[in-house]
Amino acid sequence: MSTHDAPPNPYLAPRRTADESRELEARVAKLERALTDRGIVTRETLDRVVDLYEHDIGPMNGARVVAHAWCDPEFRARLLDDATAAIAELGYSGLQGEHMVAVENTSDVHNVVVCTLCSCYPWPVLGLPPTWYKSPAYRSRVVIDPRGVLADFGLTIPDDVEIRVWDSSAEIRYLVLPEPPANADSMDEEALAALVTRDAMIGVAKVAAG
Ligand code: FE
Repeated sequence: MSTHDAPPNPYLAPRRTADESRELEARVAKLERALTDRGIVTRETLDRVVDLYEHDIGPMNGARVVAHAWCDPEFRARLLDDATAAIAELGYSGLQGEHMVAVENTSDVHNVVVCTLCSCYPWPVLGLPPTWYKSPAYRSRVVIDPRGVLADFGLTIPDDVEIRVWDSSAEIRYLVLPEPPANADSMDEEALAALVTRDAMIGVAKVAAG
C-alpha cells in the first residue's frame, strides 16, 4: 500500500529490474556507437533529438492547446472540427501528429486514448508515450474494462457518464480535451496550461483546480 492507502496502480509498476535497465542501456550505447562509427548518424544529431524531446516537444505543448481551447471558444470549435489544422495554428505539427483528432470531455462523456496495436501517440503535443501506455496490460484491458482501468489510475467515472475509448493508429492520433477545472474563470490561459497534465490529455486523469 502506498502512503495514501490507495491500491498500487498496476500500470505504474516497474517493468525492468535495475540489472535489466543496465543491460538495456548498454545495448543502446552499443547501437549508438555502431551507427555513429559508420557515419549513419552523427552524435550531434542524436543529442539534438534527445534535447528536442526533453525541452521542446512534450505535454507542455498539448497543455497550451487545451488551455487555449478553454479560453477561446472559436479556437475550441476549430480544434474539434480539424485538430491537425488548429494545433498547427499554435505552431505544433510534424512527425506522428499529421492526422490529429481532439475529443472533448463533458459532464456526460469521458474519453480515453489507447493504441491497442502498439504505442501510437501524438508526439508533437504530448512528446513520447509513458511506459504504461505501451504496456500490454493497459492496451488490452482499457478496451474491455475502461472503468476498472481508470479506477486503477485513481479516477472514478460515475456510472451515468459514458466512457469512449479511442484506438490510435498510424493514421489517427487522439488528444483528449479535458473539462476545465471548476475555478477556470478566475485564471488566465498560462495558469490554466500549467494545470493540464499529460495523463489528463490521454484521459486517465482529470484536471484539478488550481
Ligand atoms: Fe501504435
